[in-house]
Amino acid sequence: MKPYDYLVVGSGLYGSVFAYKAHKAQKRVLVLEKREHIGGNIYCTDIDGIHVHTYGAHIFHTSNKEVWDFVHKFVEFNRYTNCPVANYKGKLFNLPFNMNTFYQLWGVKTPTEAMAVIAKQREESGIKNPSNLEEQAISLVGKDIYEILIKDYTEKQWGRKCSELPAFIIQRLPVRFTFDNNYFNDSYQGIPIGGYNKLIKGLLDNIEVKTNVDFSENRDYWNSVADNIVFTGKIDEFYSYCLGKLEYRTVRFETEVLECQNYQGNAVVNYTSHTEPYTRVIEHKHFEPENPAWESNKTVISKEYSAEWHEGSEPFYPVNDKKNTSLYQKYKEMANQETNVMFGGRLAEYRYYDMDDVIEKALKDSEKIK
Ligand code: UDP
Repeated sequence: MKPYDYLVVGSGLYGSVFAYKAHKAQKRVLVLEKREHIGGNIYCTDIDGIHVHTYGAHIFHTSNKEVWDFVHKFVEFNRYTNCPVANYKGKLFNLPFNMNTFYQLWGVKTPTEAMAVIAKQREESGIKNPSNLEEQAISLVGKDIYEILIKDYTEKQWGRKCSELPAFIIQRLPVRFTFDNNYFNDSYQGIPIGGYNKLIKGLLDNIEVKTNVDFSENRDYWNSVADNIVFTGKIDEFYSYCLGKLEYRTVRFETEVLECQNYQGNAVVNYTSHTEPYTRVIEHKHFEPENPAWESNKTVISKEYSAEWHEGSEPFYPVNDKKNTSLYQKYKEMANQETNVMFGGRLAEYRYYDMDDVIEKALKDSEKIK
C-alpha cells in the first residue's frame, strides 16, 4: 500500500483547495511545493506591516455565493473595490470604461451622448464581425479608447499586436454607461484582512506540505508514493515538452519601499502608453486601508514589466492564441488518457483563470475524490 492517497503538486489555490477537500474526506494527502513558500501566486510578503502581493495584484471578486462562503471559512474580507486609474502620457482616466472615462475623453455628459460617439466611431471602422482583440475593442468602445487606453497597454502586456490576440481577453473589461468606476461586475469583492497567506494557511491546516521540492526532478519516486496525483504545474512540463513548448507571459516586479505615506492615492495605476515600459504600478497598502500600517510614513510600490516567459522565470499568463491553443489541446488529449492523474489550475489547464473560477473548479473536481 502506498503511503498517500493523493499527492498534490503545487500549493496554489487549486492545489490547496483540492488538498483541503481530500483531507476532509479522510484521505492521506501530501502537498509538494517547489518554491520556498506555500500559496502560489497569491502569496503575500510582509514589508513593514504591509501585505505585499509578491506575484502581482490579486483582487478577489466573484458572483458565486458558494465560493464566497467557502473562502470566508478561512478569513474575513474587507470591502475593497477595485477602481484602477489609467495614466496616458500624463493624463488620467478612470477605468473600466464608463461615463467618467467618456466625460474625460470627449466631455460628454449623458449616456446617449456617449453611445452616439462610440456608435459613430464603430461605424467609421467598418468592423462587422470582430475576430480579434483589436476589432473587438474598436467595435465595443470605438477608436479613441482603443488607441488611448487599450492598444499600447495590451501590446506591452502580451508582446503581440492586438490584431493577433483573441477577442476574449478584452471581454474581461466592463463597458458601462453609468458613473461607476468599479472594475468588476461581480456581486462580491474584497481582499482578505491580514493578507492572502491566511487563506492558504487555513486551507492547508493539518495537511503535510513539503516546500522546496520539485516534483519533476524526482518524478518516479513521487509517482511511487501516492495512488493519485493532482498536478497543478505546467502541463507541457509534465509531459517533458514532448509535443513542444507552450508560451507564457512572465511578469517582473520592481518593488520599492518609499518614505512616503501615500504615493499614488490608489492601489492600481495602469500606464497605457509606450512612454513607460511598465504596464502598471501597484501601491499595496491601498488594498488594506484597515491595516494600521496604512497610516505609517512608508509605502511599498511595485512596477510590473511584462515579458515572454523563458526557462527560469515564472510563468504567469497563458498565451491563448491559435497556435498555443491547438498545442494545448494535444496535451489535453494526452491528459484525458490518464487514469490516476488530474490536472487543475492556470498552468495545468493553460487557462487565463480568475481566483474564484479556480476555486470553483477545484471544488467541483474534488467531488471525484475516490
Ligand atoms: N486592458 C487594457 N487597458 C487597461 C487594462 C486592461 O487594454 O488599462 C486589456 C489588456 O488587453 C489586458 C486585458 O484588458 O490584457 C485584461 O486586463 P485585466 O486588468 O483584467 O488583466 P489582469 O489583471 O489579469 O492582468
